[in-house]
Amino acid sequence: MAKYTESKCRLCRREGTKLFLKGERCFKGICAFEKRPTAPGQHGMARKKISEYGLQLREKQKCKRIYGVLEGQFRTYYEKADRMKGITGENMLSLLERRLDNVIYRMGIGASRSQARQLVTHGHFTVNGKKVNIASYCVKVGDVIAVKENKRDNKFFTEIKSMKVGTMPKWLEFNPETLEGKILANPTREDIDSKIAEHMIIELYSK
Ligand code: SF4
Repeated sequence: MAKYTESKCRLCRREGTKLFLKGERCFKGICAFEKRPTAPGQHGMARKKISEYGLQLREKQKCKRIYGVLEGQFRTYYEKADRMKGITGENMLSLLERRLDNVIYRMGIGASRSQARQLVTHGHFTVNGKKVNIASYCVKVGDVIAVKENKRDNKFFTEIKSMKVGTMPKWLEFNPETLEGKILANPTREDIDSKIAEHMIIELYSK
């Protein structure tokens, strides 16, 4: 599987906003974007007039980077969303939110989506009792997501057991004591807090 391996903080500087890609570090004073909120590279300080196409492109890149999805897979999400009933942009965000790595992150198990993805690919979770190690696995309403029995005693999950449940999107629930969660509904646009102008992405792909 192709993977982005360069500096994540550079991506925030490129998109001109905090994308929260590095967990706790993003909430501390050591955030690279807070220290240097200019685009990376020699001409990062230069003011450039951005065309409409450029703005749409940046919005797409921002969304891809937030969810850690590469171009080909991202376009597949768009195509799938376009075939669904309803508003394409909202459908696309809903599909992205339903990725298993994102669900684990939303449950508060990983500090970032990339950590959550690593936990998934290392086979720490089951969906409805079956091991799933595919980060892009799309959950559906009623799915029960749990930490695998034989992983529950490792240090990481022992600490999770004593964690207080923070604010959680209303479309899912998670019980740290049992290390189990459930998908209560499909996420709607108002459940998704990421600052993404999805209509710009749809306009870009519709050209
Ligand atoms: Fe982005 Fe987090 Fe790095 Fe700050 S610390 S620049 S929010 S990835």
